[in-house]
Amino acid sequence: TVRVRIAPSPTGNLHIGTARTALFNWLFARHHQGEFILRIEDTDQERSQPEFTENIIAGLQWLGLHWDIGPIWQTQRTQRYREIIEQLLAQKLAYHSYETEAELQAMRAQQEAQKQAPRYTNQHRHLTPEQIAEFIAQGRQPVIRFQIDDQREIVWHDLVRGAMRWRGSDLGGDMVIARADGQPLYNFAVVVDDIDMQISHVIRGEDHIANTAKQILIYEALNAPIPDFAHTPLILNAEGRKLSKRDGVTSIFDFRNMGYLAVALTNYMTLLGWSPPAGEELFTLAEAVPLFSLERVNKAGGKFDWDKLNWINSHYIRQLSTKELCGELLPFWQQAGYGFNPESDQPWLWQLTELIAPSLVTLKDGVDLARFYMRELPDYDPEAIAQLQQMESQPILTALLAQTSPEDTDTAKQIVQTTVQQCGVKKGAVMKTLRAALMGSMHGPDLIQSWLILHQRRYAQLRLSEALQ
Ligand code: GLU
Repeated sequence: TVRVRIAPSPTGNLHIGTARTALFNWLFARHHQGEFILRIEDTDQERSQPEFTENIIAGLQWLGLHWDIGPIWQTQRTQRYREIIEQLLAQKLAYHSYETEAELQAMRAQQEAQKQAPRYTNQHRHLTPEQIAEFIAQGRQPVIRFQIDDQREIVWHDLVRGAMRWRGSDLGGDMVIARADGQPLYNFAVVVDDIDMQISHVIRGEDHIANTAKQILIYEALNAPIPDFAHTPLILNAEGRKLSKRDGVTSIFDFRNMGYLAVALTNYMTLLGWSPPAGEELFTLAEAVPLFSLERVNKAGGKFDWDKLNWINSHYIRQLSTKELCGELLPFWQQAGYGFNPESDQPWLWQLTELIAPSLVTLKDGVDLARFYMRELPDYDPEAIAQLQQMESQPILTALLAQTSPEDTDTAKQIVQTTVQQCGVKKGAVMKTLRAALMGSMHGPDLIQSWLILHQRRYAQLRLSEALQ
């Protein structure tokens, strides 16, 4: 049976790389009717923060990537790691290593001077009891290292990248698996967890490839079956570099705040590093499940393409009902400080939503598009002012003001018609004057619809009389 996991470290907010890895794991689990585990890798207690854990959990939930088991916290498993470390020590596969930070630095400096790659020289692998007693007497606190045989060949068949081959000598010498204070390190704890949780497939970013080589050695030392590995490509920015803070997005919620829908983001992320079998581009999470396979994950990095994300987002915005879309827009309008009552103002809020929907690429676009309806008076631009200064405009405005403000499209049309007759002008003249007076601009959304909204806002007559002065 398939069992996969996402194992974020709560040392930062949920970012797009981790979210995409979670998405691929989730799709793989659902496709194979397997299980998806959430494990919080919080062993690094200095850098782990509860608010990052909250952000990660909320982010996965917002995206709809629900897990079957967890969250499991590594800090709750300390006893288990200790047990395994004792076992490896007893088997002499691991040992205490007593170097001070200064000694390790000197080792690296010497290697650098000789133009060698930095590595641990394994010098404490076979200490005598006397040497150990001496170090302990000096009060040194040892780390635990796991032996890596330089001659070892490590091979695996990666489900994305194919045949992988590493040498023990490429791995930087015997690796530290626990710090002096007993805190287990990632490459060790992750293997203990993946074994205990019976993970069948480890799907994670390609930045972990060297770790996989190290981790395979630990599986072997623990006599445990080795899962399948799939290393997914990185997400790159337009310049082909790893997407980072400088690209303006760190947390998945940055995308939400920019006005992207979760369904659009998961759709887009699915295409980042995976190619659908028939070139489909639009699919919800549920629709992607039957299509997804690791075979179609690309080796090359996925370039982040804002145009495509925008296109997908506007597609999903158009799928929403007025009620749903209005619900998505409300927080953006509230955030912008617009005053309204979501309940009692619902009629015009829905009308406004319908009016601006075709122009939305992101939900945030709704802030600017609605601004005009949220204030009593518009800014009159020069064109509108010129229109209002036309000779015919003043009698038109007077005639409009003399009639009651319209409640519906028919009444609105009638008022225009009556004004045409009373003033003896063309319909175009009435419409232009009305637009200039109500909107302060000769361009913009549908005039009659805007008028009806402004009427409900009680801004229609106000704007007409302002224009008359
Ligand atoms: N905590 C690791 C990370 O966030 C997990 C990597 C893995 O999936 O093994 O990168």
